[in-house]
Amino acid sequence: MKELTSMEKYDVIIIGSGLGGLSAGAILARKGKKVLILEKHYQIGGFATSFQRKEFKFDIALHQTGGINKTFYKDILQKCGIYDKLEFIRHKYLYEAINPDSELKVKNGNAEDLKKQLIKQFPKEKLGIYLWFFLTRKIGREFYWWDKTAASNKIFFAIFLCFAPFLIPLLMVSHKISLQKILNFCAKNKKLQSALMQLGGYYGNSVDIACQIPFIGNYGYYFDGGYYIKNGGQNVAVALKGVIEKNGGQALNNSEVKKILVKNETVIGVETKKQSYYGKKIIASASPFIIYEQLLKDWNGSKRELEKINKMKIGTTLSQVYIGLNVGIEKINRKFKNSYLVFINNLKDDFYKDLILAFHSNIDKSAAPEEKATLCVTFLDNYERWDLPKKEYKKKKDEELKKIFELLQKHLSDLEKYIEVVEFGTPKTMERYTGNPKGAVYGFSQKIGQAGFDRFKNKSPLKNLYFASAWTFPCGGFEGAIRAGYKVAKKI
Ligand SMILES: Cc1cc2nc3c(=O)[nH]c(=O)nc-3n(C[C@H](O)[C@H](O)[C@H](O)COP(=O)(O)OP(=O)(O)OC[C@H]3O[C@@H](n4cnc5c(N)ncnc54)[C@H](O)[C@@H]3O)c2cc1C
Repeated sequence: MKELTSMEKYDVIIIGSGLGGLSAGAILARKGKKVLILEKHYQIGGFATSFQRKEFKFDIALHQTGGINKTFYKDILQKCGIYDKLEFIRHKYLYEAINPDSELKVKNGNAEDLKKQLIKQFPKEKLGIYLWFFLTRKIGREFYWWDKTAASNKIFFAIFLCFAPFLIPLLMVSHKISLQKILNFCAKNKKLQSALMQLGGYYGNSVDIACQIPFIGNYGYYFDGGYYIKNGGQNVAVALKGVIEKNGGQALNNSEVKKILVKNETVIGVETKKQSYYGKKIIASASPFIIYEQLLKDWNGSKRELEKINKMKIGTTLSQVYIGLNVGIEKINRKFKNSYLVFINNLKDDFYKDLILAFHSNIDKSAAPEEKATLCVTFLDNYERWDLPKKEYKKKKDEELKKIFELLQKHLSDLEKYIEVVEFGTPKTMERYTGNPKGAVYGFSQKIGQAGFDRFKNKSPLKNLYFASAWTFPCGGFEGAIRAGYKVAKKI
């Protein structure tokens, strides 16, 4: 690989190595562009990373990703040059849901099976159940069609848009209607509504304001399957970095960008503590707040842009407890011997209503040695609860851990007895790690007016500055951020 000096001009400089930035970088590097990634952290990937404690490897984020079969997302992974480098693990069950009065084991990529189970539980709602699956599938297909055409030539896409009301009618209508309205139209029973929205919990929006479009990816899991990536989500980041380097680019860790250089309303480069780098185009994988509040604070348009984004609602944050156990899961509860994702719903607690359990080591042996296991417990959280002085924060962490273990007692008895290592990542941790305000994991809230076609745009008003991350079009998550990267690469 040719070494570049800072005085040489890069074609593209990418601020932050989240999946949005890395995927844009990989596509552009494969097209012959000279790419530089600057990451403030000691490792690349943003949320798509893992960490090691003793013999256990914990995935910071990934539970499931999808769309790797006949979808346009698969095309994008191929365009990034990583599709063949990743091994996708498909568990037999998409998830198991434990409710206070019922249980549901949902076969992976088998919507028919789920329909049957739900009709058995809610026979009066048969028509509505069919309608819900028909609508979600149809809207998903329309989005796929729109996405693929948008990526084709401009004239073809312009013609497509003229006929959009006929070609993608459901997508256009559902884009402006809250999920709650669509749910009410299909299902009367609240328990059925919750079951239909099980995967929506990932996004944390209350359904009465949530937009349908960001859920399309998740809903695809029911039809095409949800997958984990062998050796963890960080493997996606590592593969993308590999493509960038193989094609002459560089990714530098411990390189926090402190300033974006602007001349005549055009971005021309960036500064780290140590040096300046010049580039023709700049892509921000870091949040727009970091860009306008910190890196462009001397640019006179920043105030206007900040006013705009400050009016927007920031999306959900999550907390995750990472646990290494000195026994196999079957020692604690035989029922979970081969489980991967288990949703424990409607716990009778003021705050912890739903918990997601992920037994990564059950499906990926690289997570723990034999006879041992990992368990990640995830739940939607609220940043403000944790915005405390250091001592109180630590105390709260200890107290809440205890509470979580108590809640889990019914399902994993004596869990505490087997714990070898435990780490608690709160919204503060998520914020500290990525710089995303309020620890947002999917960028701006995916609510009506901020999601789908109304999502934060990938292009800044400043010439040559772009955004590719969970904050931007189309949405958050692994797939959303990678699609954003593709979109920006295409624009460039
Ligand atoms: C607990 C948890 C569970 C999740 N589960 C799933 C899941 O199952 N499926 C799924 O699809 N998604 C999941 N997600 C969400 C998904 O991981 C994210 O939406 C996605 O990875 C965000 O990518 P991004 O491109 O926005 O970048 P981010 O991951 O936000 O990374 C931004 C990067 O920019 C860097 N940066 C910031 N400022 C600077 C600067 N000044 N200079 C240099 N670098 C800078 C940061 O260090 C960071 O590396 C989960 C997230 C969490 C936290």
